[in-house]
Amino acid sequence: MLYQRPRGVNDILPEEVGRWQQAEATFRDLCRVYNYEEIRTPIFEQTDLFVRTVGENTDIVSKEMYTFEDRGGRSLTLRAEGTAPTIRAYLENHLQGQDPERLVKLYYLSPIFRYDRPQAGRYRQHHQVGAEAIGSPRPEVDAEIIQLSLTFFERLGLEEVTLLLNSVGCQQCRPQYVSALQEFVQPHLHQMCEDCQRRYETNPLRLLDCKNETCRQIMQQAPSMLDMLCDECATHFDRLQQTLDLLGIDYTIDPQIVRGLDYYTKTAFEFMAPGLGAQDSIGGGGRYDELIEQCGGPPTPAVGVGIGLERVLIAQQVAGAVEEVQPRQGVFVVTIGEQAWPEGLKLLTKLRAVGLKAEIDYRQRSVRAQLRYADSEGYQWAAILGEDELKQQSVTLRDMVSGQQESLPQSELITRLQVEDE
Ligand SMILES: [Zn+2]
Ligand SMILES: [Zn+2]
Repeated sequence: MLYQRPRGVNDILPEEVGRWQQAEATFRDLCRVYNYEEIRTPIFEQTDLFVRTVGENTDIVSKEMYTFEDRGGRSLTLRAEGTAPTIRAYLENHLQGQDPERLVKLYYLSPIFRYDRPQAGRYRQHHQVGAEAIGSPRPEVDAEIIQLSLTFFERLGLEEVTLLLNSVGCQQCRPQYVSALQEFVQPHLHQMCEDCQRRYETNPLRLLDCKNETCRQIMQQAPSMLDMLCDECATHFDRLQQTLDLLGIDYTIDPQIVRGLDYYTKTAFEFMAPGLGAQDSIGGGGRYDELIEQCGGPPTPAVGVGIGLERVLIAQQVAGAVEEVQPRQGVFVVTIGEQAWPEGLKLLTKLRAVGLKAEIDYRQRSVRAQLRYADSEGYQWAAILGEDELKQQSVTLRDMVSGQQESLPQSELITRLQVEDE
């Protein structure tokens, strides 16, 4: 019986994994530069953590979580998003330390599990990179998170990413807005989609980002949160824009950006890449000044971002920012005859010990077959050991692209290859 992978999940194959590693390494390096430290939390959490933080009436909690009971009867849920587990770990491990205003900066790379209708860039296991800055209410920190994200996209060749910006207010000003929104929607509700009929009661802010065409038309006339922000939220939003201007970061204010999670306050933002159709959001985030208190910690302001790697990689393809040709590298040890074989194995070990990619033909085929194989596997060099070479303690180095060969002492081979490798 041949098994197939479950619906909605993917294998990432060796031929694709280079692009993944490149994106991950780029993100890690940026986090180092911006002084964020990596945190790795478990792949599952207590279900209640997500229900309480993300919100009972959000799409994620109400229909997308992978929830199961373990053998001890506990309800557990596979990592459904990145922020709640990070905050749980931050609190549980007292990462704030003694100084309540110290900025704690964390990042993660992690799979995320959502029971979603599979479509391009949207999988039941997808992968996110994310960063969280905990402990500061300052809009400059929101700008830092945004800048880090945009630099990440740029380094991956995504020059055309748009930043959509909004403020979703706070405990003080949002309830009033939600009432105004419901009041506006009420007379149109019968025309709106089933999801919106439900959201009207349970999660009215989500009415704003419904993808249904009729709903969108109606919501275009909806009142804007931005007109109803309290003084604190309005000042924060102004300062954020001033900071983005100062840093030369372009943005578009879009009052429809609400994100699908309950915990956002003040800043909410989303990054869009062109050419991804309905799935053009490649990441987003916002401020969550009330979440940490809600998780049982002291009131602590924080802001974060999550970026979907699958969508970033698709956007790279759309933007033509993918280097299809892998540069040749490494050295293939070619042995001729039985006597050369043990010497070949020793040379192979030495090459690998200094960090050079190196391989040998364990089938000990003909020289022609070995060279053909080295070529098809993308090696830059072949180091040939035969009877003559053994006698002279030399090696014949062949450039696999030009076919040029030269003889050099075995003792010089490694230095020579290391120079070429740079
Ligand atoms: Zn407010
Ligand atoms: Zn709708």
